Amino acid sequence: MAKVLAVLYPDPVDGYPKTYARDDIPKITSYPDGQTAPTPSAIDFKPGQLLGSVSGELGLRKFLEKAGHTLVVTSDKEGPDSEFEKELPDAEVVISQPFWPAYMTKERFDKAKKLKLIITAGIGSDHTDLQAAMDKGVTVAEITYSNSISVAEHIVMMILALVRNYIPAYGWVVRGGWNIADSVERSYDLEGMNVGTVAAGRIGLAALRRLKPFGVKLHYTDKHRLPKAVEQELDLTYHPDVESLVKVCDVVTINAPLHPETEDLFNDKLIAKMKRGAYLVNTARGKIVNRDAVVRALESGQLAGYAGDVWFPQPAPKDHPWRTMPHHGMTPHISGTSLSAQTRYAAGTREILESYFAGKPIRTEYLIVDKGKLAGTGAKSYTAGDATKGAEAA
Ligand code: NDP
Repeated sequence: MAKVLAVLYPDPVDGYPKTYARDDIPKITSYPDGQTAPTPSAIDFKPGQLLGSVSGELGLRKFLEKAGHTLVVTSDKEGPDSEFEKELPDAEVVISQPFWPAYMTKERFDKAKKLKLIITAGIGSDHTDLQAAMDKGVTVAEITYSNSISVAEHIVMMILALVRNYIPAYGWVVRGGWNIADSVERSYDLEGMNVGTVAAGRIGLAALRRLKPFGVKLHYTDKHRLPKAVEQELDLTYHPDVESLVKVCDVVTINAPLHPETEDLFNDKLIAKMKRGAYLVNTARGKIVNRDAVVRALESGQLAGYAGDVWFPQPAPKDHPWRTMPHHGMTPHISGTSLSAQTRYAAGTREILESYFAGKPIRTEYLIVDKGKLAGTGAKSYTAGDATKGAEAA
């Protein structure tokens, strides 16, 4: 029987919810490309419940214990004395979410002698050293598409919040003011602007589709070009490289995975090539942009605003400069863990576990690493190597 070790974010500070703001959530059965939403044999939770925190247990306990497995859940994940590292040596399966990642470094792989499967409950497995997973023959899987639309919605929200100066205006209201001029001195319409995405995969394309009705001119760069029909439908301008895209865009959104090719992509040099006063929105991964270059660009006015929900490390330390830099619209890493998204990726996690324990193949679209190499979605979107560096120090 297997030990399953799940690292989940802590419960709300005022306790695990007893009631919710809404009574139901829409049932999503398939995604825009036709892929079906997760299809586990059953679920032991009510859709719309908080599942990603420790007491939510991704809705897995009943299912796992009934089959004789052990489930250990903790949010204590950093350092050698953490609950996570203590439980790791005899764990067969490790589960964590990008919002509260269990960084699976090579050192941790060396300690995890029984490890066979790592599940990212969500999307984005860069917190796992994929090279080490390949070398050790550990399978890595994630719940592809489960929260792509959730993130695309967050991107649109953040672009509008920055361009229209929503957050400072809200602040004036909360403080009892009626400061019209203060609120609008940095407020513009999005209409007519050039908006570009770095990568047009599931999230990037969904963001482009949602932005189209705002009357903007859309741009993208990607390793592979989208079908002609999609380019025509959205009147997209393709750029062969990121430099060409950033030169013409008023708003840039980053939607590429973090891997050795994209790490530190938005550094001083690339940001200097952007239009002065451009907005940058990054819901992909914190390490794709250079932390201090972003701060410098906001202070100098090269960037008019920066928003996103991804940081490095996570959780971000109290003194992380992105908390206090000017003109930012940061949230903690939440875009892909709305209650709606949690329903899908908790079901997907169970689907993967059901396949694994039954000795059946895991859906190809969920696979990142399998049998010693990049597989499924991993083979399409990632490159070999390690993007977890620095996690130990953090
Ligand atoms: P997809 O795999 O659908 O799309 C990623 C796209 O990035 C692919 O089209 C890929 O190209 C492209 N790409 C890879 N490397 C480069 C590069 N060097 N330059 C340009 N394009 C590149 O992934 P998703 O859209 O589902 O997710 C994207 C990322 O968003 C995830 O990897 C994750 O890091 C992040 N994410 C964040 C969440 C959050 O809560 N904030 C939640 C979910 C995901 P191609 O396939 O053509 O080779």
